[in-house]
Amino acid sequence: MTDLKIFDRMESEVRGYIRSFPVVFKKARGSVLEDEHGREYVDFFSGAGTLNYGHNNPVLKSRLIEYLNTDGLVHGLDMATSAKKQFLETVDRLLLKPRNWNYKLQFTGPTGTNAVEAALKLARKVKGRQNIISFTHGFHGVSMGSLATTANAKFRNAAGLALNSTSFIPYDGYFGPDVNTMAYLERMLEDPSSGLDHPAAVIVETVQGEGGVNVATQRWLRELQRLCREHDMLLIVDDIQVGCGRTGTFFSFEQAGIQPDIITLSKSLSGFGLPMSLVLFKPELDTWKPGEHSGTFRGNNLAFVTASQALESYWSDAQFTQQIQKKEQLVRDWLENIVQSFPQAGLSVRGRGLIQGLVTTPGEGLANRIAAKAFEQGLVIETSGSHDEVLKVLPALTIEPEQLTRGLHVIEASLAQCLAERGHKARVVKIGGAR
Ligand code: PLP
Repeated sequence: MTDLKIFDRMESEVRGYIRSFPVVFKKARGSVLEDEHGREYVDFFSGAGTLNYGHNNPVLKSRLIEYLNTDGLVHGLDMATSAKKQFLETVDRLLLKPRNWNYKLQFTGPTGTNAVEAALKLARKVKGRQNIISFTHGFHGVSMGSLATTANAKFRNAAGLALNSTSFIPYDGYFGPDVNTMAYLERMLEDPSSGLDHPAAVIVETVQGEGGVNVATQRWLRELQRLCREHDMLLIVDDIQVGCGRTGTFFSFEQAGIQPDIITLSKSLSGFGLPMSLVLFKPELDTWKPGEHSGTFRGNNLAFVTASQALESYWSDAQFTQQIQKKEQLVRDWLENIVQSFPQAGLSVRGRGLIQGLVTTPGEGLANRIAAKAFEQGLVIETSGSHDEVLKVLPALTIEPEQLTRGLHVIEASLAQCLAERGHKARVVKIGGAR
C-alpha cells in the first residue's frame, strides 16, 4: 500500500500531479519510472515536456558527474563560466549558424514563466506599448505577467489582481476548420474602431500543449508573421513545451518557415530535467540596460553542461529528426486505429511530432478515466484541454519502440475497459500497419 500521509499532512492543497499518480516514485531511467515498491510505469508524460531525452539519460548524466567531479561551478549568477561559454558556442554552431540566424541570448530565471516574463517585458519596452495579443487556450505560465496571457480561467481566477494589457484572439481552428481566425485578427488590426489597442507583440504556441494539443497550421503561422510585420508588432513564439525537438525539428516553427522576433525556451532545454530558461531575440531588440532584468538563478551551470551535451548528442545532424518522425507515424497510426475501432466513442486525433492528443467529447470525463485506468496498468499519461478532454501522448523522443508500443497498448486496453463499462464494444480495424 502506498503511504502518502506525509504529503497529505505537510504539503499544500495546491499539489497537483500527485493526485493523478498517487504513488511515491523512487527511480527513473529512460522512459520507465519505478515506485517505492519496485513497480514500473512507462512514461508518456515526460515531466510535461521536460524530459525529451528520457530520465537520467546516461550520456548527459556522465557529463554532469564528470563536471561535478572536477569542481566545475554550480552557481554563477550571470558571471562568465566555462560551462556557459561552451553552451553559447554550441548554440551558435549547432542551432544558429546552420540556419543562418542571428539572435541574442538572454538567460532568465530557471522556469518557463521567467522566460515569458522577460520576453513580454522586452517587447513592451521596445515598442513602448502595453497591449499583447494572446490566443484562446494559450498557456504561458502562472506568474503575473505570463498569467495575463494565459487563457484558462482556473489559473486566471487565482491571480488576486487584475490581469491587464492582453487581448485574446481565437486560435487557429477555434470555430472549426472553415473559419479563418487570422482574417478576424487582420480586420481588428485594420479597423481603428475595433477596440483593439495597438499591440506591442503577439505571443503564440505553434501547438498548444496545455490548451488541448491544438495545432496551428503552417499557413496560419505564416499569416500571423505577415500581420506582425505589417502592423509593427513583435512575434513571440513560446516554444517552451513544443520546442527542443518535440515536433521533429529543434524549433517547432521551422516547418512553417517563419522567423520569430523573440523565442522562449525552457523545459527540455537542459535535457536532463535541470531548470534552465532562455530567451532568444533579434539583436536590434536588445535594448536592455546592464542588470535591468535580473534573477539569482540565471546561471544554472549544471544545466548548461547537460544542455550543451544534449545539443551535441542529438542535434548535430538530421538523424534524430528522422527517428522522431518514425515514432510520430507509429503513434499517429495507432491512435487513428483506436478512433476507428471505437466509432461509438466519437474520438479524434490531433498533434504534431511526438505530441499527439486523443480527443474525447468534452464533459464526459472519458479522457481522465482512461488516464486513471492506464495508470493502474502501469502508464503515466496526462490529460489537457479546457475540460481535460484530451489524452495527451507525450513520450520521451528517445523512447524505445517496444516501450512506445507497450504504452499504446495500455491506452487502447484502458479505453476499451472504460467503454465496456458503458456497454460499448470495439470494432477491429487496422491502419498503416501500426499493430
Ligand atoms: N509556456 C508554455 C508553452 C508552457 O507549456 C509552460 C508550462 O507548461 C510555460 C510557459 C510555463 O513554464 P513553467 O511551468 O516552467 O513556468
